[in-house]
Amino acid sequence: MEVFIEPIGRLMNEFSKLPGVGKKTAQRYAYKVISMSEAEARSFADALLNVKRKVRFCRVCGNFTEEEVCDICKSRDKSTICVVKEPKDVIALEKLHEYKGVYHVLHGVIDPMNGVTPNDIRIRELLGRVNEGGVKEVIMATNPDVEGEATAMYIAKLLKPLGVLVTRISRGVPVGSELEYADEVTLSRALSERKQI
Ligand SMILES: [Zn+2]
Repeated sequence: MEVFIEPIGRLMNEFSKLPGVGKKTAQRYAYKVISMSEAEARSFADALLNVKRKVRFCRVCGNFTEEEVCDICKSRDKSTICVVKEPKDVIALEKLHEYKGVYHVLHGVIDPMNGVTPNDIRIRELLGRVNEGGVKEVIMATNPDVEGEATAMYIAKLLKPLGVLVTRISRGVPVGSELEYADEVTLSRALSERKQI
C-alpha cells in the first residue's frame, strides 16, 4: 500500500523531477501546495505552463527569449561574441554589468565519454555568425573543466582560419568549477584578463 494518497503522491513525484529535490523536500513542497488557496495554486500552475509557452531560444545566440531574437542580440556590440555552455552562464556574466558584446550559447560542451560530439552543440551556428563578417573577437568562456577546455580549443582551431581574434577567459575561475559558482570579482577578472589562444 502507498503511504501517500494518490493526488499527493503524484504531486510529490512531479516535484522530485526537479534537480536537488529528494523525497523529503518533495513532500514538503506538496504539503505547501495543499495549504495554498485555490488562486495561489492556480497562479503556481499557470507560471509553469506560461514558461513553456513563452520561452524559446534566440534564433541568433541560442539564449532564452520571448521573441525570435533576444534583446542582447538586438541592442549590443556584435563585434565581440562570448561563447558559453548554457543560458545560465549568460546570467552569471550579465550580473557583472561589464560585458558589452553579444553571446553564443552552445547548449553543451564536447564530451565524447557521454556521447556529445561537435555536431551535437551549436558550433556550426557560431561559425555561421563569424562567417557573416563584422566579428573581431570571440571569447571562449566555457567552464574551466576538462570538457570546457577541450571545447574551447576545438572551436579556436576552427575560428582561427577565419581571421578572428580568439581569446580564453583567464584561470581566475578555479579549475574544474562552473562559471555560475564563481564570485563576481573572480569572474570579472577572468573576463578582463582573457588571453589569446
Ligand atoms: Zn540572442
